[in-house]
Amino acid sequence: MKIEAGFATDVGRVREGNEDAYLVEPPLYAVADGMGGHRGGDVASQLALATIEDLSKQGKGTLGEQVREANRLVFERAAEDRRLTGMGTTLTATMISAEGAHLAHVGDSRAYMLRAGALRRLTEDHTLVSRMVRAGEITEKEAEHHPHRNVLVRALGIEPDVDVDEEAIGLLDGDRLVLCSDGLTGMVSEEQIQAILEASTTPQEAADRLVRTANRAGGVDNITVLVLDVSEAEPGPGASTEGGGSAARAARAGVDRSTMLRWAARAGVGLAVVLALLFGVRAFVESQWYVGIDQGSVAVYQGIPAEVLGFQLSHVEVQTTIPAADVTGNPLWSNLPNGLTAPSREEALQIVEEMRRFIAAAEEQPT
Ligand code: MG
Repeated sequence: MKIEAGFATDVGRVREGNEDAYLVEPPLYAVADGMGGHRGGDVASQLALATIEDLSKQGKGTLGEQVREANRLVFERAAEDRRLTGMGTTLTATMISAEGAHLAHVGDSRAYMLRAGALRRLTEDHTLVSRMVRAGEITEKEAEHHPHRNVLVRALGIEPDVDVDEEAIGLLDGDRLVLCSDGLTGMVSEEQIQAILEASTTPQEAADRLVRTANRAGGVDNITVLVLDVSEAEPGPGASTEGGGSAARAARAGVDRSTMLRWAARAGVGLAVVLALLFGVRAFVESQWYVGIDQGSVAVYQGIPAEVLGFQLSHVEVQTTIPAADVTGNPLWSNLPNGLTAPSREEALQIVEEMRRFIAAAEEQPT
Protein backbone atom coordinates (compact mmCIF):
# COMPACT_ATOMS: atom_id res chain seq x y z
CA MET A 1 0.00 0.00 0.00
CA LYS A 2 1.21 3.49 -0.84
CA ILE A 3 0.00 6.39 1.27
CA GLU A 4 -0.11 10.04 0.32
CA ALA A 5 -0.76 12.24 3.36
CA GLY A 6 -2.17 15.72 3.69
CA PHE A 7 -2.39 17.47 7.05
CA ALA A 8 -3.38 20.75 8.62
CA THR A 9 -3.83 22.09 12.11
CA ASP A 10 -5.14 25.44 13.21
CA VAL A 11 -5.81 27.18 16.51
CA GLY A 12 -9.31 28.15 15.33
CA ARG A 13 -10.97 31.49 15.94
CA VAL A 14 -11.65 31.43 19.67
CA ARG A 15 -8.88 29.58 21.53
CA GLU A 16 -5.60 31.24 22.42
CA GLY A 17 -3.38 28.22 21.97
CA ASN A 18 -3.42 25.03 19.93
CA GLU A 19 -3.50 21.96 22.20
CA ASP A 20 -4.04 19.59 19.29
CA ALA A 21 -1.08 17.68 17.92
CA TYR A 22 -0.55 15.36 14.99
CA LEU A 23 1.96 12.76 13.92
CA VAL A 24 2.93 11.96 10.35
CA GLU A 25 5.73 9.39 10.60
CA PRO A 26 4.91 6.83 7.91
CA PRO A 27 3.60 4.24 8.39
CA LEU A 28 2.26 5.74 11.65
CA TYR A 29 -0.28 8.58 11.64
CA ALA A 30 -2.15 10.08 14.59
CA VAL A 31 -4.04 13.04 15.99
CA ALA A 32 -4.30 13.99 19.68
CA ASP A 33 -6.47 16.65 21.29
CA GLY A 34 -5.08 17.73 24.64
CA MET A 35 -7.00 19.18 27.56
CA GLY A 36 -6.13 20.72 30.89
CA GLY A 37 -5.40 24.23 32.03
CA HIS A 38 -2.32 26.32 31.25
CA ARG A 39 0.07 24.24 29.15
CA GLY A 40 -1.30 20.89 30.31
CA GLY A 41 -3.23 20.06 27.16
CA ASP A 42 -0.25 20.86 25.01
CA VAL A 43 2.06 18.66 27.08
CA ALA A 44 -0.39 15.75 27.15
CA SER A 45 -1.06 15.59 23.40
CA GLN A 46 2.60 15.98 22.46
CA LEU A 47 3.87 13.51 25.06
CA ALA A 48 1.33 10.91 23.92
CA LEU A 49 2.35 11.24 20.28
CA ALA A 50 6.09 11.29 21.06
CA THR A 51 5.63 8.08 23.05
CA ILE A 52 3.92 6.09 20.33
CA GLU A 53 6.40 7.45 17.78
CA ASP A 54 9.39 6.30 19.87
CA LEU A 55 7.95 2.90 20.67
CA SER A 56 6.94 2.21 17.10
CA LYS A 57 10.40 3.23 15.82
CA GLN A 58 11.90 0.78 18.32
CA GLY A 59 9.39 -1.83 17.21
CA LYS A 60 8.14 -2.24 20.77
CA GLY A 61 4.65 -3.64 21.23
CA THR A 62 1.48 -3.39 19.20
CA LEU A 63 -0.11 -0.03 18.51
CA GLY A 64 -2.63 -0.70 21.29
CA GLU A 65 0.18 -1.41 23.76
CA GLN A 66 2.02 1.73 22.68
CA VAL A 67 -1.11 3.80 23.34
CA ARG A 68 -1.48 2.25 26.80
CA GLU A 69 2.14 3.10 27.52
CA ALA A 70 1.49 6.67 26.36
CA ASN A 71 -1.43 6.77 28.80
CA ARG A 72 0.83 5.66 31.64
CA LEU A 73 3.46 8.30 30.86
CA VAL A 74 0.93 11.13 30.59
CA PHE A 75 -0.68 10.00 33.85
CA GLU A 76 2.69 9.89 35.67
CA ARG A 77 3.76 13.24 34.32
CA ALA A 78 0.46 14.80 35.47
CA ALA A 79 0.96 13.30 38.93
CA GLU A 80 4.57 14.59 39.19
CA ASP A 81 3.93 18.17 38.19
CA ARG A 82 1.32 20.17 40.07
CA ARG A 83 0.91 22.57 37.15
CA LEU A 84 -0.10 19.67 34.91
CA THR A 85 -2.66 18.09 37.26
CA GLY A 86 -5.75 16.99 35.39
CA MET A 87 -4.20 17.09 31.94
CA GLY A 88 -5.23 14.47 29.44
CA THR A 89 -5.53 13.87 25.74
CA THR A 90 -7.48 12.01 23.12
CA LEU A 91 -5.52 9.86 20.71
CA THR A 92 -6.60 8.37 17.40
CA ALA A 93 -3.79 6.59 15.60
CA THR A 94 -3.38 4.32 12.62
CA MET A 95 -0.50 2.11 11.56
CA ILE A 96 -0.55 1.19 7.86
CA SER A 97 0.83 -2.12 6.70
CA ALA A 98 0.36 -4.56 3.83
CA GLU A 99 -2.61 -5.98 5.75
CA GLY A 100 -4.38 -2.63 5.96
CA ALA A 101 -4.90 -0.02 8.65
CA HIS A 102 -4.60 -0.87 12.33
CA LEU A 103 -6.55 1.70 14.36
CA ALA A 104 -6.15 2.53 18.04
CA HIS A 105 -8.46 5.08 19.59
CA VAL A 106 -9.34 6.77 22.89
CA GLY A 107 -11.50 9.89 23.23
CA ASP A 108 -13.56 11.95 20.82
CA SER A 109 -11.20 12.54 17.95
CA ARG A 110 -12.37 10.46 15.01
CA ALA A 111 -11.32 8.32 12.08
CA TYR A 112 -13.37 8.11 8.88
CA MET A 113 -13.05 6.27 5.64
CA LEU A 114 -14.38 7.46 2.29
CA ARG A 115 -14.83 4.52 -0.06
CA ALA A 116 -16.96 4.25 -3.17
CA GLY A 117 -18.94 7.39 -2.41
CA ALA A 118 -19.76 6.50 1.20
CA LEU A 119 -18.25 8.06 4.32
CA ARG A 120 -17.96 5.61 7.21
CA ARG A 121 -17.03 6.57 10.77
CA LEU A 122 -14.47 4.07 12.07
CA THR A 123 -14.34 5.17 15.71
CA GLU A 124 -16.81 5.59 18.52
CA ASP A 125 -16.73 8.79 20.58
CA HIS A 126 -15.92 8.14 24.22
CA THR A 127 -18.26 10.87 25.38
CA LEU A 128 -21.14 11.09 27.78
CA VAL A 129 -23.61 11.93 25.01
CA SER A 130 -22.45 9.05 22.85
CA ARG A 131 -23.10 6.75 25.82
CA MET A 132 -26.56 8.33 26.18
CA VAL A 133 -27.27 7.68 22.50
CA ARG A 134 -26.32 4.02 22.88
CA ALA A 135 -28.57 3.76 25.93
CA GLY A 136 -31.42 5.19 23.83
CA GLU A 137 -31.75 8.25 26.08
CA ILE A 138 -31.22 10.81 23.30
CA THR A 139 -31.05 10.65 19.50
CA GLU A 140 -27.93 10.98 17.37
CA LYS A 141 -29.22 14.37 16.16
CA GLU A 142 -29.80 15.61 19.72
CA ALA A 143 -26.28 14.51 20.65
CA GLU A 144 -24.80 16.70 17.91
CA HIS A 145 -26.09 19.85 19.58
CA HIS A 146 -26.07 18.72 23.19
CA PRO A 147 -24.51 21.36 25.44
CA HIS A 148 -22.33 18.72 27.12
CA ARG A 149 -21.29 16.87 24.00
CA ASN A 150 -17.61 17.53 24.82
CA VAL A 151 -17.62 15.67 28.15
CA LEU A 152 -15.27 12.71 27.76
CA VAL A 153 -15.72 9.40 29.57
CA ARG A 154 -12.35 8.09 28.41
CA ALA A 155 -9.04 9.88 27.71
CA LEU A 156 -5.31 9.28 28.08
CA GLY A 157 -3.65 10.44 31.30
CA ILE A 158 -6.66 10.37 33.61
CA GLU A 159 -6.27 6.87 35.08
CA PRO A 160 -3.17 4.66 35.42
CA ASP A 161 -4.60 2.29 32.82
CA VAL A 162 -6.96 2.84 29.91
CA ASP A 163 -9.08 0.75 27.56
CA VAL A 164 -8.02 1.28 23.96
CA ASP A 165 -10.42 0.60 21.10
CA GLU A 166 -8.62 -1.28 18.36
CA GLU A 167 -9.74 -2.22 14.90
CA ALA A 168 -8.19 -3.66 11.76
CA ILE A 169 -9.45 -2.18 8.50
CA GLY A 170 -8.74 -3.67 5.08
CA LEU A 171 -7.66 -1.06 2.56
CA LEU A 172 -8.42 -0.74 -1.14
CA ASP A 173 -6.87 1.36 -3.84
CA GLY A 174 -8.64 4.73 -3.81
CA ASP A 175 -9.66 4.70 -0.14
CA ARG A 176 -9.36 8.04 1.60
CA LEU A 177 -8.85 7.93 5.39
CA VAL A 178 -9.37 10.91 7.68
CA LEU A 179 -8.15 11.39 11.26
CA CYS A 180 -9.44 14.55 12.91
CA SER A 181 -10.01 16.31 16.21
CA ASP A 182 -13.48 17.41 17.38
CA GLY A 183 -12.68 20.95 16.27
CA LEU A 184 -13.60 19.68 12.80
CA THR A 185 -16.56 17.44 13.61
CA GLY A 186 -18.08 19.89 16.08
CA MET A 187 -18.25 22.53 13.36
CA VAL A 188 -18.75 20.66 10.09
CA SER A 189 -21.44 18.05 9.42
CA GLU A 190 -20.53 14.61 8.08
CA GLU A 191 -22.41 15.46 4.88
CA GLN A 192 -20.19 18.52 4.42
CA ILE A 193 -17.05 16.55 5.28
CA GLN A 194 -17.93 13.98 2.64
CA ALA A 195 -18.68 16.66 0.04
CA ILE A 196 -15.33 18.36 0.69
CA LEU A 197 -13.42 15.06 0.53
CA GLU A 198 -15.12 14.22 -2.77
CA ALA A 199 -14.44 17.65 -4.24
CA SER A 200 -10.73 17.71 -3.31
CA THR A 201 -8.18 16.21 -5.66
CA THR A 202 -5.20 15.86 -3.31
CA PRO A 203 -5.20 14.91 0.40
CA GLN A 204 -3.51 18.23 1.22
CA GLU A 205 -6.23 20.16 -0.56
CA ALA A 206 -8.85 18.17 1.38
CA ALA A 207 -7.16 18.82 4.75
CA ASP A 208 -6.79 22.56 4.05
CA ARG A 209 -10.39 22.88 2.91
CA LEU A 210 -11.76 21.03 5.93
CA VAL A 211 -9.86 23.29 8.33
CA ARG A 212 -10.99 26.40 6.43
CA THR A 213 -14.61 25.23 6.54
CA ALA A 214 -14.47 24.63 10.31
CA ASN A 215 -13.06 28.13 10.78
CA ARG A 216 -15.70 29.65 8.58
CA ALA A 217 -18.35 27.90 10.69
CA GLY A 218 -16.99 29.60 13.80
CA GLY A 219 -13.78 27.73 14.64
CA VAL A 220 -14.64 27.48 18.34
CA ASP A 221 -11.97 24.82 18.98
CA ASN A 222 -8.53 23.82 17.69
CA ILE A 223 -8.87 21.96 14.39
CA THR A 224 -6.60 19.17 13.19
CA VAL A 225 -7.08 17.02 10.10
CA LEU A 226 -4.99 14.27 8.49
CA VAL A 227 -6.11 12.91 5.15
CA LEU A 228 -4.51 9.71 3.86
CA ASP A 229 -4.96 8.54 0.28
CA VAL A 230 -4.41 4.86 -0.29
CA SER A 231 -3.11 3.48 -3.55
CA GLU A 232 -1.71 0.16 -4.66
CA ALA A 233 2.07 0.47 -4.77
CA GLU A 234 2.39 -1.88 -7.71
CA PRO A 235 -0.86 -3.37 -8.94
CA GLY A 236 -0.18 -7.03 -9.50
CA PRO A 237 -1.54 -8.86 -12.54
CA GLY A 238 -5.31 -9.10 -12.40
CA ALA A 239 -5.46 -6.98 -9.24
CA SER A 240 -8.92 -5.53 -8.86
CA THR A 241 -9.19 -2.04 -7.45
CA GLU A 242 -13.00 -2.03 -7.35
CA GLY A 243 -13.02 1.60 -8.37
CA GLY A 244 -12.99 2.75 -4.77
CA GLY A 245 -12.27 6.37 -4.11
CA SER A 246 -11.25 7.21 -7.67
CA ALA A 247 -14.80 6.44 -8.78
CA ALA A 248 -16.07 8.39 -5.80
CA ARG A 249 -13.89 11.33 -6.64
CA ALA A 250 -14.98 11.26 -10.30
CA ALA A 251 -18.62 11.38 -9.23
CA ARG A 252 -18.40 14.90 -7.81
CA ALA A 253 -21.48 15.99 -5.96
CA GLY A 254 -23.50 17.71 -8.67
CA VAL A 255 -25.68 19.56 -6.21
CA ASP A 256 -24.29 21.91 -3.62
CA ARG A 257 -26.61 21.42 -0.68
CA SER A 258 -25.88 24.71 1.01
CA THR A 259 -26.56 26.62 -2.22
CA MET A 260 -29.89 24.82 -2.50
CA LEU A 261 -30.78 25.64 1.09
CA ARG A 262 -29.88 29.28 0.62
CA TRP A 263 -31.97 29.39 -2.53
CA ALA A 264 -34.90 27.75 -0.74
CA ALA A 265 -34.54 30.21 2.16
CA ARG A 266 -34.61 33.12 -0.29
CA ALA A 267 -37.64 31.68 -2.06
CA GLY A 268 -39.30 31.37 1.37
CA VAL A 269 -38.57 35.01 2.14
CA GLY A 270 -39.89 35.99 -1.31
CA LEU A 271 -43.13 34.13 -0.65
CA ALA A 272 -43.46 35.79 2.75
CA VAL A 273 -43.12 39.20 1.08
CA VAL A 274 -45.87 38.43 -1.45
CA LEU A 275 -48.14 37.21 1.37
CA ALA A 276 -47.39 40.36 3.32
CA LEU A 277 -48.47 42.55 0.40
CA LEU A 278 -51.64 40.51 -0.05
CA PHE A 279 -52.75 40.47 3.59
CA GLY A 280 -51.75 43.88 4.80
CA VAL A 281 -48.06 44.61 5.02
CA ARG A 282 -47.95 46.26 8.38
CA ALA A 283 -49.99 43.85 10.45
CA PHE A 284 -48.16 40.89 8.98
CA VAL A 285 -44.68 42.28 9.33
CA GLU A 286 -45.19 43.38 12.92
CA SER A 287 -46.42 39.98 13.98
CA GLN A 288 -43.15 38.41 12.79
CA TRP A 289 -39.96 37.92 14.76
CA TYR A 290 -36.52 36.64 14.07
CA VAL A 291 -33.05 36.39 15.54
CA GLY A 292 -30.35 37.88 13.36
CA ILE A 293 -27.10 39.81 13.45
CA ASP A 294 -26.70 43.52 14.11
CA GLN A 295 -23.16 44.93 13.95
CA GLY A 296 -21.63 41.51 14.55
CA SER A 297 -23.78 40.69 17.58
CA VAL A 298 -26.90 38.59 17.97
CA ALA A 299 -30.09 40.66 17.95
CA VAL A 300 -33.83 40.03 18.12
CA TYR A 301 -35.72 41.68 15.27
CA GLN A 302 -39.38 42.45 14.84
CA GLY A 303 -40.46 42.01 11.25
CA ILE A 304 -39.12 39.81 8.49
CA PRO A 305 -35.53 39.51 7.28
CA ALA A 306 -36.13 41.18 3.92
CA GLU A 307 -36.40 44.55 2.25
CA VAL A 308 -38.79 45.78 -0.42
CA LEU A 309 -37.79 48.64 -2.73
CA GLY A 310 -35.04 49.57 -0.29
CA PHE A 311 -37.31 49.55 2.81
CA GLN A 312 -36.20 47.26 5.64
CA LEU A 313 -39.15 45.18 6.79
CA SER A 314 -37.71 44.79 10.27
CA HIS A 315 -36.04 46.63 13.13
CA VAL A 316 -33.92 45.61 16.10
CA GLU A 317 -35.98 45.06 19.25
CA VAL A 318 -33.36 43.55 21.55
CA GLN A 319 -29.63 43.98 21.05
CA THR A 320 -27.37 41.44 22.81
CA THR A 321 -23.61 41.37 23.36
CA ILE A 322 -23.31 37.78 22.07
CA PRO A 323 -20.76 37.78 19.21
CA ALA A 324 -22.50 36.19 16.22
CA ALA A 325 -19.31 34.26 15.40
CA ASP A 326 -19.60 32.39 18.72
CA VAL A 327 -22.83 30.68 17.71
CA THR A 328 -22.98 30.40 13.92
CA GLY A 329 -20.68 27.38 14.19
CA ASN A 330 -23.49 25.45 15.84
CA PRO A 331 -25.52 23.90 12.99
CA LEU A 332 -28.70 24.85 14.89
CA TRP A 333 -27.91 28.50 14.23
CA SER A 334 -25.81 28.44 11.07
CA ASN A 335 -28.61 30.30 9.31
CA LEU A 336 -28.34 33.22 11.73
CA PRO A 337 -26.98 35.60 9.04
CA ASN A 338 -30.22 35.07 7.08
CA GLY A 339 -32.41 35.31 10.19
CA LEU A 340 -33.83 32.56 12.44
CA THR A 341 -37.56 33.14 12.38
CA ALA A 342 -39.63 32.73 15.56
CA PRO A 343 -43.38 32.79 16.05
CA SER A 344 -43.23 35.29 18.92
CA ARG A 345 -40.98 37.67 20.81
CA GLU A 346 -40.77 35.15 23.68
CA GLU A 347 -39.63 32.38 21.39
CA ALA A 348 -37.05 34.63 19.74
CA LEU A 349 -35.71 35.45 23.22
CA GLN A 350 -35.66 31.75 24.02
CA ILE A 351 -33.33 31.16 21.06
CA VAL A 352 -31.02 33.84 22.50
CA GLU A 353 -31.17 32.11 25.89
CA GLU A 354 -30.16 28.79 24.29
CA MET A 355 -27.22 30.53 22.64
CA ARG A 356 -26.09 31.86 26.02
CA ARG A 357 -26.29 28.39 27.54
CA PHE A 358 -24.36 26.94 24.59
CA ILE A 359 -21.55 29.47 25.02
CA ALA A 360 -21.43 28.94 28.79
CA ALA A 361 -21.23 25.15 28.32
CA ALA A 362 -18.52 25.52 25.67
CA GLU A 363 -16.46 27.60 28.09
CA GLU A 364 -16.94 25.09 30.87
CA GLN A 365 -15.65 22.23 28.75
CA PRO A 366 -12.47 23.30 27.00
CA THR A 367 -11.96 20.03 25.11
MG1 MG B 1 -10.96 19.67 20.71
